[in-house]
Amino acid sequence: MSRTSPHILTDKLLSWFGQTGRSDLPWRDAPYGARDPYRVWLSEIMLQQTTCAAVIPYFNHFTATWPDVKALASADTDDVMRAWAGLGYYARARNLVKCAQVVADERQGVFPAHEQDLLTLPGIGPYTAAAITAIAHQGPAAPVDGNVIRVLTRLYAIEDVMPAHKGVVGEYSAKMLPQGRSGDFAEALMDLGATVCKPKKPNCAACPWISNCQAYAQGRATAYPVKAPKKEKPTRKGWAFWIERADGHVLLERRPDKGLLGGMTGFPTTHWQTDAIDAEQAVASQSFEGPWRVLDEIVLHTFTHFHLELGVIKVSVDAMPTNGLWCPPHDIDNQALPSVMKKVSALFS
Ligand code: SF4
Repeated sequence: MSRTSPHILTDKLLSWFGQTGRSDLPWRDAPYGARDPYRVWLSEIMLQQTTCAAVIPYFNHFTATWPDVKALASADTDDVMRAWAGLGYYARARNLVKCAQVVADERQGVFPAHEQDLLTLPGIGPYTAAAITAIAHQGPAAPVDGNVIRVLTRLYAIEDVMPAHKGVVGEYSAKMLPQGRSGDFAEALMDLGATVCKPKKPNCAACPWISNCQAYAQGRATAYPVKAPKKEKPTRKGWAFWIERADGHVLLERRPDKGLLGGMTGFPTTHWQTDAIDAEQAVASQSFEGPWRVLDEIVLHTFTHFHLELGVIKVSVDAMPTNGLWCPPHDIDNQALPSVMKKVSALFS
């Protein structure tokens, strides 16, 4: 198959985008063209490793509560963590506030327009910098996300395996960038991947590139992107403690800022490790005293790098220690609990 000029491919894609671009995404405040950098930044941070459907209610809540970067910069970090609870990858939420503060305090509330300047801000990596440059400013940048990788590895039948194919895709994408419409091009590629060139069942009949697509011509669309063999995720085990004092309040703690679920609120736990410890050892590792029992249920949760099996121990304490956050049961779900802790809480509701 002869290679079609990148510009012809771009024209076909933009024409398709003009007719079918998604209008149901709240961060797209206009059908196309330059967009509000705050909303682009917020949506792109939320969309990392997370689907549009999951992000939309969070995005709407955030923009209703903190409508611009200055409002978010002056927000209480705990309120932001609470609003983020359930979205996962909590370092993103902490960096969100830090980044808003830098933009508000040092840049008069204006996001930089260039990738290199954006990269100096907390929590903004190469993908997000490229996305803001392109989508908010129509600047010359080609963000490469999972959708873009899937579409372009199919279009060009790119055989490189992840992560090598990311660089190759970036080069192809850069060659296709239209002058002054990089953001429309980026969104069009993302839309094509999300709505037509889907992972398992691409709807090639609806694709503007069907006559140019090498994977389609091979009859092997779903063979791309080529994946490295999957590594088995290890399973870690641990214990969570539901520590209840005589007035029914339950002990919560704020996890350290660094590390998994950093800065989120949760129940005290043991370390999570591949070698299990038994309940006696788990209780002995804690400083409380009081009768305890092990619940029958095990909480199962999967993180990016491991599966977790969490046993749960209920403890009744008589003393009224003042350290930690003692929370009435009806208020627990209003705290910034990550999903795994919500699963623990659900066992008691
Ligand atoms: Fe994807 Fe099919 Fe379009 Fe090729 S023709 S880019 S496989 S939807």
